[in-house]
Amino acid sequence: MGVGIEQPIGRTVRVIDQRGQLVYQYPMVITDVIQETELAKTYIFKNVGDRRIFDYHPGQDVKLYFDTPLKKGDFRFYSIAGSPTRSDGYFELMIKSEGGTFAPYLHQLAKIGDLVVIEGPYGRFLKKALNMIAEGKLKTVVFLAASSGIVPFKCFIEYAIDKRLGVSIHLLYVNRTRNDFIYRRLIPRLLDEYKDLHLLVNFTREHDVSKEEILQELFGGDDRNGRVRMLLGRHIVFDDIKELVPDWDGAYYGICGGARFIAGDREKGVDGMLQKLEKGGVSRSMIEIDSFGTG
Ligand SMILES: Cc1cc2nc3c(=O)[nH]c(=O)nc-3n(C[C@H](O)[C@H](O)[C@H](O)COP(=O)(O)OP(=O)(O)OC[C@H]3O[C@@H](n4cnc5c(N)ncnc54)[C@H](O)[C@@H]3O)c2cc1C
Repeated sequence: MGVGIEQPIGRTVRVIDQRGQLVYQYPMVITDVIQETELAKTYIFKNVGDRRIFDYHPGQDVKLYFDTPLKKGDFRFYSIAGSPTRSDGYFELMIKSEGGTFAPYLHQLAKIGDLVVIEGPYGRFLKKALNMIAEGKLKTVVFLAASSGIVPFKCFIEYAIDKRLGVSIHLLYVNRTRNDFIYRRLIPRLLDEYKDLHLLVNFTREHDVSKEEILQELFGGDDRNGRVRMLLGRHIVFDDIKELVPDWDGAYYGICGGARFIAGDREKGVDGMLQKLEKGGVSRSMIEIDSFGTG
């Protein structure tokens, strides 16, 4: 399958996007594909010509171009999965297929050795938290992720490990079932490498299994001195956050996932995480969101 857009191989192209921002286009070759769950895959790319890629910070996105059978030169936005401290000419995305018109074709057709075009960096998600940490003004971050919304936080945690950021990180990770749990091999390693990482695993549709069984299956039965907690069969409410995060009112909050996870469903009167935080008393100025789309 093809490159996506007309692109002289081996050349980096600078582009001014619609908002007047300088972004870069790189032709990249797929060097590895890792199956994360039935529907989610990590793609590793290498810049053609072995050059450095653009500077970026955790939380930023790129456009990935790919020719699908439906549209030549189609693209979608993806959060950058690999920490800039680990990029070294390589580049990582984690893509979940949601039954749409791009990701399913990418998963089906993209193979090691194929060429794609990546354009970026875009966005400012997590920049505020990084600035506050650099200024010594932030001790705790709370990350609320649904499904593929884990990606920018995985990037941030690797960055925090490498840069020894020293902040407390509370990751609240929501999926329907344990089969949807992305980064199941990686997350236990991150917990071992960053001792101030606290994880709440929330499976909203797991009713007939005990917390112990899931702990055994995903974390080898080791809750890392109470740093791994489970919430099964229901959605997170604000009191869960209050219970988990001692300094919840001084923390920064990042929310990432589909629009319904973030903003709820007004017609059905269901709150998303944003409303839950605001009603709980978190200042809007301490909340940043990255919305992945409709889901
Ligand atoms: C800033 C940003 C960052 C993102 N980062 C990531 C990331 O890191 N990883 C990731 O996996 N995704 C990410 N996304 C989402 C990504 O851009 C795509 O939307 C996603 O891969 C789905 O593409 P698609 O072709 O499957 O669906 P699209 O064709 O783009 O359709 C969008 C949505 O509509 C629904 N839909 C469309 N067609 C159907 C259908 N036939 N049946 C049922 N439902 C349908 C699906 O819910 C689908 O997700 C990000 C989005 C944004 C805006």
